Amino acid sequence: MKNKLSYSLFYTLTVLSISCSPEATEHDLQSVKPTSAITRPEEAFPNQRGSIQTTKLNGKTVTYQLFGDQAVFENDILLSEHDLRQADDLQIEGTGRTKASSRWPNKIVYYSISPSLPNPSRVLAAIAHWEANTPIRFVERTTQRGYVLFQTGSGCSANVGYVGSVQYINLASSCTTGNTIHEIGHTVGLWHEHSRADRDTYVNINTSNIITGYETDFQTYVQRGTDGFDSEGGLDFGSIMMYGSYDFSKNGLPTITKKDGSTFTSQRNGLSQIDIQTVNLMYPTPN
Ligand SMILES: [Zn+2]
Repeated sequence: MKNKLSYSLFYTLTVLSISCSPEATEHDLQSVKPTSAITRPEEAFPNQRGSIQTTKLNGKTVTYQLFGDQAVFENDILLSEHDLRQADDLQIEGTGRTKASSRWPNKIVYYSISPSLPNPSRVLAAIAHWEANTPIRFVERTTQRGYVLFQTGSGCSANVGYVGSVQYINLASSCTTGNTIHEIGHTVGLWHEHSRADRDTYVNINTSNIITGYETDFQTYVQRGTDGFDSEGGLDFGSIMMYGSYDFSKNGLPTITKKDGSTFTSQRNGLSQIDIQTVNLMYPTPN
């Protein structure tokens, strides 16, 4: 009981220290100068490249990487064996998954935190942020078959959507509370914001500046030949699922710029208003 009390106190304090950033507008982001020429957002295996594999997705060829027996898509998205078996049925969307089977039943994410995970308070803080801003609830797993296990990883990575058996959020020590909020975004079903079908209306992808081998991670779902939808309001530069201008640059020049050539920064503070709206679309009330 004592443990529980001190945990919940810490939990509350931590929540207060996290700033959700619905006010991070495009203008705000544009006015912030990048502090580093080359940045790297969440990656499952930083500075490593796996063997390139392909699978058929809705009749089109999709590329992913294999690290040992772990398949990785767009740097930090883990593909489960189920995903690969069901590849023809896998729906890729710009910001969210619509397939009912990919959503957590009753908006409840069952979870477990590995006892060996360093700094578990970042997980509790990220969960508190999600619960404060969305209808998703997180319940410690007892015997449920489908649950997410937070465990130590070489980088930050997660499966996208509900898998139905054990699925993972892998966190290296360097993964922050903000990175964890991003990974939970994948767990509940969000894809990266820059993979929206309409993103070319808002940004240019400068392929020649992207680290060799990372190019396919900048594709839209249409370029991959898959179905999807974009949430209303256009590309959300403030999304916690958005990449920054210099992410995965091989030469210090921007990989993503706005249409006028200007650069922007990404944020990992909290869910944006549009992130929250998208989650509400995926998990409507009532179900
Ligand atoms: Zn990600």
